[in-house]
Amino acid sequence: MNVDYLIVGAGFTGSVLAERLAKAGKQVLLLDKRDHIAGNAYDEFDENGVLVHRYGPHIFHTNAAHVWRYLAQFTQWRSYYHEVLAVIDGHQVPIPFNLNSIEQLFPAHYAEKLSKQLIKRFGYNVKVPILKLREQSDGDLDFLADYIYKNVFEGYTLKQWELKPEELGASVTGRVPVYVSRDNRYFQDKYQGMPLHGYTQLFRNMLKHKNIRIMLNTDYKDIAKQVKHKHLIYTGPIDEYFEHQYGELPYRSVEFEMQYHEQAQMQAVGTVNFPNEYDYTRTTDMKTLTGQQHHGSTLITEHPQRYQRGENDPYYPIPKEEYRKLYRKYKKAADGLGDKVIFAGRLGSYQYYNMDQAVASALSLSEKL
Ligand code: FAD
Ligand code: UDP
Repeated sequence: MNVDYLIVGAGFTGSVLAERLAKAGKQVLLLDKRDHIAGNAYDEFDENGVLVHRYGPHIFHTNAAHVWRYLAQFTQWRSYYHEVLAVIDGHQVPIPFNLNSIEQLFPAHYAEKLSKQLIKRFGYNVKVPILKLREQSDGDLDFLADYIYKNVFEGYTLKQWELKPEELGASVTGRVPVYVSRDNRYFQDKYQGMPLHGYTQLFRNMLKHKNIRIMLNTDYKDIAKQVKHKHLIYTGPIDEYFEHQYGELPYRSVEFEMQYHEQAQMQAVGTVNFPNEYDYTRTTDMKTLTGQQHHGSTLITEHPQRYQRGENDPYYPIPKEEYRKLYRKYKKAADGLGDKVIFAGRLGSYQYYNMDQAVASALSLSEKL
C-alpha cells in the first residue's frame, strides 16, 4: 500500500487531520488498534439501548468559534450546559465551588460574611484557583480556603492522581477554580453542547471521503513496514513509539463502571462528585448529557487507577514538571526525525487536552502541512 499520510489513532486529533489532508487531495490511511473510530470520545448504544460514552463522559465546550463551526459541518449541536454537584458534609453543592455553595454549607449570617469578603477581596464574577485562594487569604477567608481545599480538592485529587493538589501543575486544579459568582455551570465557554446524534456519528460524517481509508483492529507496530508513506502522524503515546528508550512516561487510567437502572433519571444533575466518600471520584447520568428519551438510564462511575502497560489504557498524562522533563527528551528525539514523523494529540504531545484543544491544534497543524 502507498499513501501520502499514514495516521495512527482515529481520535479527534487523527480524524481531523485525516479530514483536512484528504480534502487537500492527499491519500490518507487512518488506523486504530481499537475496533472503532472516535478515540476516547467513542459512544455507542449499550445492551439496554442507552447511548453511553465507553471511555467516560465527554461534554463539548469551547471559546474557539472556528473549532465549533468546523465541527458543525459534521453534526448538529444539542444545547447543553453541564452542571456538577459535589457531596460535602452530606449536602450536594455546586462545583465549581461558588457563592451558592457557600450559602448551602454555612449558617446564613456567616455565609453572607464570607461571600462579602470574597467579593471585596477578588471582585465579582472572578475565578480564583484554589492554590491562589490559599496563598492570598487571611482571617475568615483563610478558613474558607482551607475548608474548600480539604473538602473539595484534597480527597478528589488524591483519588484521581495519587498526588496532592500542590504536587501537580497549578493548571490541574485551576481547571475547576472557585468561582465568585452564582453561575452553577461547570463551564463558562461561549459554545457548549453535545453532538445531536452522538460523537461516533460525528466522526463517521467527518471521515466520509474517498481519499481516506480506515483500518481498525490494527496496531501501528504490526504494519509499520507494510505501508509505504511519505509522512507519519502519530497520536499514540510518544514514549511507546520510541520503545520507552528514556523510561516510561506515567499516565493515569480509569475503570468506567456502567450500571443500568430502571429509572428515567438517577441524579439531579449530569455529574455528582464524591471528593470525600468512596473510592470513586464521580458518577454521571448519561441521559442527562445526551438528552435521549428512554425509560431507564445508565450511570457511569469512574474508578481512577494507575496505568500499567498492557493492562489498561493511558487516559491522562500527568501534569507534573518532572514528567514534562522526561517528555522533552522524547520531544527532542521526535524533532530529530524531521517532518517525516509528526507527533500530535493528548498522548503524542503528552498534554492534558480537552477535545476542543485537540481539534484546534490538529487544525493548525493541518494548515502547516
Ligand atoms: P485519543 O482520543 O486518545 O485517540 C488516540 C487514539 O490512538 C486511540 O483511539 C488509540 O486507540 C489510538 N492508538 C494509540 N496507539 C496506537 C497504535 N500503536 N496503533 C494504532 N492506534 C493507536 N474533553 C472534553 O473536551 N470534554 C470532556 O468532557 C472530556 N471528558 C473526558 C473524560 C475522560 C475520562 C477522559 C479520559 C478524557 C476526557 N476528555 C474530555 C478529553 C478527550 O478525551 C481528549 O481531548 C481527546 O480524546 C483527545 O483526542 P486524541 O485524538 O488526541 O486522543
Ligand atoms: N477537582 C477536585 N475536585 C472536584 C473537581 C475537580 O479536586 O470536585 C480537581 C481534580 O484534581 C481534577 C481536576 O480538578 O483532576 C480537574 O477536574 P476536571 O473535572 O476538569 O477533570 P477531568 O474532567 O479532565 O477528569
